Amino acid sequence: MARGISRQLVVLFAAAAYGQKLGPITADSLRANLTYLASDELEGRATPSRGLDKAADYIADQFKKAKLQPVDGSFFQTAAVADLPGNWKRNLPADAPATVRNVVGLLRGSDRKLRDTYIIVSSHYDHIGTSAAGDDRIFNGANDDASGAVSVIELARALVKAKPKRSILFVTFFGEERGLLGSRYYGQHPLVPIASTLAQLNLEQIGRTDASNGPQVKGANVTGFDFSNLPAILADAAQAAGVRIWKDATSSDAYFSRSDNQSLADLGIPAHTLSVAYDFPDYHKVSDTADKIDYENMAAVDKAIALGLLKLASNAEPPKWNESYAPARKYVEAGRKLHPAPTN
Ligand SMILES: [Zn+2]
Repeated sequence: MARGISRQLVVLFAAAAYGQKLGPITADSLRANLTYLASDELEGRATPSRGLDKAADYIADQFKKAKLQPVDGSFFQTAAVADLPGNWKRNLPADAPATVRNVVGLLRGSDRKLRDTYIIVSSHYDHIGTSAAGDDRIFNGANDDASGAVSVIELARALVKAKPKRSILFVTFFGEERGLLGSRYYGQHPLVPIASTLAQLNLEQIGRTDASNGPQVKGANVTGFDFSNLPAILADAAQAAGVRIWKDATSSDAYFSRSDNQSLADLGIPAHTLSVAYDFPDYHKVSDTADKIDYENMAAVDKAIALGLLKLASNAEPPKWNESYAPARKYVEAGRKLHPAPTN
């Protein structure tokens, strides 16, 4: 009983302390940004396309308004389409944009000793474009993954006010739907040192609560829940926002490789994807539209994520891969390569 009460007090104290520091995270702001990114004007944000370029410009503008800093003088990391891997390029029309861009913004850490270490928060902002036939031909990709992109924007606004000790790099990737292209590109051309990048939290499908396996209110899953202690750090911090971060036993390990966390996990960085719903009724259909998003719930989940990121960036020890969990073995090995044990 006594332990329960003191635990409650700690949680309440954390909520009060963090709550004052964070900038606002609101349903209205999330709705405004998502309604634009998932609008027909952006034509389903295929990689590459005019719509994708418009989305990148919009996100960069929001990063600037949030007072993030450019990286190497730019809010964009530009890749030539011709240099990207895969057979999909054969089907592109001759007048396709020739370049695609990751959108990046940096929040410089406030602590002189810790500011050269980095936490990455990311999402993909591309989707699957348009279909050849049908009345509605535009795949709006509201939940997948405009919801992640607007959450990254909102977290930037909130965390700038909180002045975390470590630096946080905010990234939205192109080409996830073509095979994690933007995050793979980032991994090959990192903007901050990989060895100083302590963790990545990737956000996917944050907006829909009507999951195929039942309503998901004030909760979120993290893929590879037992692969490292990062999910437990998040879960602990999220309690103060009344949000439960939990392990979906059937999908947690299987979905680890299905989003942009995989690219940095392969390099040894503890990296996971957080989602409110994995499977939802309009997944990869033209009906994944902005009107079906639960904005109030998304704001609550984003507050919980902000508390988790603040903890990672200010208070927690760097996350570690779980050496005793067999499915994480290849990442434990990659982590050892990235941070070799000192020898005498
Ligand atoms: Zn996605």
